[in-house]
Amino acid sequence: MAESMKGLKRTHRCTEVTQANIGETVTLMGWTAKRRNLGSLIFVDLRDRSGIMQIVFDENDIGTDGFEKAGTIRSEYVLAVTGRVEKRGGAVNEKLPTGTIEVRAVDLRILSESETPPFPIEENSQTREELRLKHRYLDLRRPDLQRNLMVKSKVATLSRNFMAQEGFLEIETPMLAKSTPEGARDYLVPSRIYPGSFFALPQSPQLFKQLLMVSGYDRYFQIARCFRDEDLRADRQPEFTQMDMELSFVDIDDVLDVNERLLKHLWKEILGLDIETPFRRMTWQEAMDRFGSDKPDLRFGMELHDVSDIVKDCGFGVFSGAVASGGTVRGITVEGQAGMPRKKIDALTEFVKGYGLKGLAYLSVQEDGSYKSSFAKFMSQEELDRLVRAMDAKKGDLLLFAADKVKLACETMGALRCEIARNLNLIDKNRFEFLWVVEFPQFEWSEEEQRYTAMHHPFTMPMEEDLAYLDTDLSKVRAKAYDIVLNGCEIGGGSVRIHQNDIQEKMFECLGFTKEQAREQFSFLLDAFRYGVPPHAGLAYGLDRLVMLMLGLDSIRDVIAFPKVKDSSCLMTQAPSPVDGKQLQELGITFIPAEKSEE
Ligand code: ASP
Repeated sequence: MAESMKGLKRTHRCTEVTQANIGETVTLMGWTAKRRNLGSLIFVDLRDRSGIMQIVFDENDIGTDGFEKAGTIRSEYVLAVTGRVEKRGGAVNEKLPTGTIEVRAVDLRILSESETPPFPIEENSQTREELRLKHRYLDLRRPDLQRNLMVKSKVATLSRNFMAQEGFLEIETPMLAKSTPEGARDYLVPSRIYPGSFFALPQSPQLFKQLLMVSGYDRYFQIARCFRDEDLRADRQPEFTQMDMELSFVDIDDVLDVNERLLKHLWKEILGLDIETPFRRMTWQEAMDRFGSDKPDLRFGMELHDVSDIVKDCGFGVFSGAVASGGTVRGITVEGQAGMPRKKIDALTEFVKGYGLKGLAYLSVQEDGSYKSSFAKFMSQEELDRLVRAMDAKKGDLLLFAADKVKLACETMGALRCEIARNLNLIDKNRFEFLWVVEFPQFEWSEEEQRYTAMHHPFTMPMEEDLAYLDTDLSKVRAKAYDIVLNGCEIGGGSVRIHQNDIQEKMFECLGFTKEQAREQFSFLLDAFRYGVPPHAGLAYGLDRLVMLMLGLDSIRDVIAFPKVKDSSCLMTQAPSPVDGKQLQELGITFIPAEKSEE
């Protein structure tokens, strides 16, 4: 029978009780993590969000009725226990913060009973994630998930306070917004009042925060939910949280500076670590050339070498052919791996094929200085020596090469570099390597749409020195855009915005919008820009990802209380779900069932 709280008050959370409380009477409340019945003594590990306290039930302390009641306790029963804090009688548990003490119960209430849970509630659960997500309310009782969410809450609080001190105002922007075609697919919300019209859930507060700058709020901050209806990807969530900001009367350095201080503050307060500022900065071009990625992981070396010049006239047609057709040859030097078995090299070849490369050429420098290679027979000794020198290789090293179009070769070797580092355990998990990647290209060519699209978004300011290219060569325009990268992941990004109407109009034109389309979509922004716009810039973090990396976790789902799975559904609530015909009718919506494919 569930008992009530009447007359009871919790005095502490479990791990708030320490040796300093020995001799005191405390009242703790929580869940039964473990129960051992030793006949004359019953032990319960009581769990709350702070951790665990060992409770001892002894008939001499609690009386016969109380002891009998304690005998009925099962896993996950919710208890209120009043008792004396004592030094542990039995074995001390070094692993627990409360491992040297225990509470000898003098009073027990069973606040609620529990059925046997469908899986054990324990740290580092081995239970299948589907089952855990179906019963997420139980999964969330696990100490590791509780810790993650508590850290996330702390990150939010610390950030809010920091930003307030820096003069930022927290301002909400709408969830029911206007659909815009750039970027990812929108989640749409049908309007009942205007059948056939839709709101879109925001992909980010971008336009609203820019308008707040037009309105003079000059420093805005928000922890904002964002929605993107993207195709299935392992670690994406259709809704996620941004830590979003915008500042007026600033240029790039001002934005980077306040964000470096914010991150330094968070790492210090939460992890007790002093991270070095200012962070390193690298242009997008340099990142691509050296690491084959716009979010390089700097915790290990193995940089890419461009050896195109060295092999352009060599006898190995794969190399020389790639260069002749405007492509490149890029290599990485894997230290000490000359002896890598053929099978492993084959596996790496399969890996790069997954990215679209046709193959992987290799050369290993043997201990006697000779080479073992998939292409040595096509090249002279001198050519090979030059190549090995250019790769900074020494005896015992393995060299791997890709020859293809520049983008494909660089990106694939960048991915291979990370794959090898993971395989060989070259990554120090305790290191945090922050990096600003700057000077992104303004545009990227979309094969699918056969036009240039904005790499960041259409409101990003081109670098002043590249403005002339807007009329001549869009591929040459660099943007005043920046990403903050941590350990090979992008945790945030932003840009200086266009604050001149003529450049904004030009930008829409470059992106293939007609004047009418631009007006149709963004008339409010273009209008607002006619009434005095301050120069402004901003940035947004993916808060979930930031916390995930901060805690060294592998899955974004571990920092979101109620995450969705890969197909964007919620296993617990079964959302999305069909709705009542009446609801659809009210919205003026008829549903066209997907055509059954012919058997
Ligand atoms: N709104 C941008 C984004 O979601 C970030 C920014 O430019 O501030 O990526």
